Amino acid sequence: MDFAFTPRTETYRTKLNLFMDECVYPSEVIYEHQLEEAGDPHAQPVVMEELKKEARTRGLWNLFHPHPQWGPGLANLEYAPLAEIMGRSPIASEACNCSAPDTGNMEVLTMFGTPEQHDLWLRPLLEGEIRSSYAMTEPDVASSDATNVAMRVERDGDYYVLNGRKWWISGAAHPLCKIFIVMGKTDPGAPPHRQQSQILVPMDTRGLTVTRSLPTFGYQDQEGHVEVRFDNVRVPATNMLGDEGDGFAIAQARLGPGRIHHCMRSIGAAERALELLCKRALSRTTFGKRVAERSNIMDWIAESRIDIEMTRLLAFKTAWLMDTIGNKAASVEISAIKVAGPNMALRVMDRAIQVHGAMGMCDDTPLPRMWVWQRALRFADGPDEVHKMTIARRELRRHDPDFRAG
Ligand SMILES: Cc1cc2nc3c(=O)[nH]c(=O)nc-3n(C[C@H](O)[C@H](O)[C@H](O)COP(=O)(O)OP(=O)(O)OC[C@H]3O[C@@H](n4cnc5c(N)ncnc54)[C@H](O)[C@@H]3O)c2cc1C
Repeated sequence: MDFAFTPRTETYRTKLNLFMDECVYPSEVIYEHQLEEAGDPHAQPVVMEELKKEARTRGLWNLFHPHPQWGPGLANLEYAPLAEIMGRSPIASEACNCSAPDTGNMEVLTMFGTPEQHDLWLRPLLEGEIRSSYAMTEPDVASSDATNVAMRVERDGDYYVLNGRKWWISGAAHPLCKIFIVMGKTDPGAPPHRQQSQILVPMDTRGLTVTRSLPTFGYQDQEGHVEVRFDNVRVPATNMLGDEGDGFAIAQARLGPGRIHHCMRSIGAAERALELLCKRALSRTTFGKRVAERSNIMDWIAESRIDIEMTRLLAFKTAWLMDTIGNKAASVEISAIKVAGPNMALRVMDRAIQVHGAMGMCDDTPLPRMWVWQRALRFADGPDEVHKMTIARRELRRHDPDFRAG
């Protein structure tokens, strides 16, 4: 395995770090102020559109996209260090048109979309003109098992009609959100992995209602996480992605890269937390010594550095495997990094919060908000336990090739 940065990764890293220093970090406070002034937690701050323009001018746009036709065509291992840098700030990914769930949705549209779907939805997404949501989870069923997804998607002539409820749909409160990719059941009689399909539903379709916005530990994320009701939502049959019954396969294809992008960003967020921890520990004195000189604090700093380095190596290994043997063959490593990334970041952030004293609990630092998002990532794209099941199964099958669970 060779994890050395390629020349183009080096070039992008230099450009991206400069963009972060010159534009992104100084805009964080402006972004918060503009949101407050708007009086709507989901408004689009003007500064974000300015950042998007600047990122484009600097050639830092759609960095995630693996196809050279649509982006720089970086391999996963080349993109990993860039996602990490963007993960240091909550506003950097959107500025570079690299934020979830759009990245996964753009990849799905690239892989499974028709030329017409590309024109209608993929191009505006790649241009950063619109945003999108991915709607799979439902309040009425345990959605960590995708075969449970129950929303009905029924054929009616040249249309499909959708009925049901979805929740925790990220991005749907963003003012630019225009399109949903919805997973639902087209054929309850088919084998379990052929019952589901994925279909495009424009946000303004009659019968689609956002019923409430769901805060995470009290935080209203700007892009929002919402509950949505579908009452006889009717879309043309041409909105189907792939064929009827492909939903499960599309979900798998979508989640490989998407999952590891989150983990790469978790590593960047952990780096920022460790930086804040060190600066605070060096600047405060108790009982005649700087906090940084206490052996337990030095232990936390060392443990954090070890945690970050180990997780980064696992992320690189996973990205390398995806590039060399493919997403499916790398599925156990994808699960491993999906568990390791947020849990590692949570440990580092918790230490950083503790070192800040009471200040660590309020929004004078980005730490609480960062912690909450990492906590949410232990659910989003599947809870830890489901990924651990994948890892444990492979381990057990080394000893019992027929091992089954669940
Ligand atoms: C902030 C946030 C954003 C999200 N964004 C989206 C989005 O954009 N689109 C979308 O569709 N969904 C989204 N989700 C939903 C997320 O994907 C689901 O919450 C997740 O897949 C789990 O489904 P569930 O909540 O129905 O939990 P359930 O399936 O009810 O599971 C509950 C718990 O049971 C345990 N469990 C489940 N299976 C096993 C097992 N095999 N072994 C051991 N324990 C197990 C786990 O502890 C799990 O947390 C988001 C969630 C959050 C918190």
